[in-house]
Amino acid sequence: MIYHIALRQDWEDATETGIYVCASLESQGFIHCSTADQVARVANNIFKETTGLKMLQITEETLEFPLRYEQGEDLPELFPHVYGPINLEAVTQVIDFDPDDNGLYIFPEEFAHPKFWQETSLKYLTLEQWESLCDGCARCCLYKIQDIDTDELFYTNVACRFLEAETCRCTDYIHRHDIMPTCIILTPRNLAEIDWMPETCAYRLLNEGKPLRWWHPLNSHGPDSVRAAGISICGKYLPEEQADMDHLENYIVEDLQ
Ligand code: SF4
Ligand code: SF4
Repeated sequence: MIYHIALRQDWEDATETGIYVCASLESQGFIHCSTADQVARVANNIFKETTGLKMLQITEETLEFPLRYEQGEDLPELFPHVYGPINLEAVTQVIDFDPDDNGLYIFPEEFAHPKFWQETSLKYLTLEQWESLCDGCARCCLYKIQDIDTDELFYTNVACRFLEAETCRCTDYIHRHDIMPTCIILTPRNLAEIDWMPETCAYRLLNEGKPLRWWHPLNSHGPDSVRAAGISICGKYLPEEQADMDHLENYIVEDLQ
């Protein structure tokens, strides 16, 4: 993991545009980052008088642009530099970064230890941990169509009739497979065989060895971020009762955002 100290406005702009940029990318050609050992020192040296900072936790493996470790200005150690915008898929957590009561920045405790989904294989999670991985986006409750010749999968904006409009939760989650036989109960065992889970689905991401995104409730500490990031289908789908189910092809959507 690497870390970047961001101005609040730059981060808010990133959530609108889908990529993170800051002034140094234009002036120096790269975005300054730090390791866990470096980031508090950097904050205390450079951002002492600045308020409203955010700290971004970034996974190196999912960065789209090159990452190079290079000597810092006036410092004999190597710092990670990202040579391009930071794609938000690489950002796993974002927190408010404020100094302590003594005016000093310290490395946030919540970044200090790995989370259960980072250190435990999916098949060893407790039921509670497994269920908590679901971000509630309800994308898996949308009807999908598969081309029988090419196997290509298309998402529609029509959702299952058992989805509750206001909460975007299943009205009978416990009995979901009984009330809707095509509704699959996801398990660590069948996950690898299911190829239609949305790319943003937490189970799919972890099964593919990818990190959870910054907007996931376990990272953001609340469900609102899933809607704010445009991942939830709440308010954006057509209930099954209002669709012409014989012509689902009329409801294909290119981008689930
Ligand atoms: S797509 Fe995945 S994360 Fe989203 S509601 Fe379905 S199971 Fe949960
Ligand atoms: S039965 Fe519930 S969980 Fe299954 S697709 Fe319908 S709304 Fe979603």
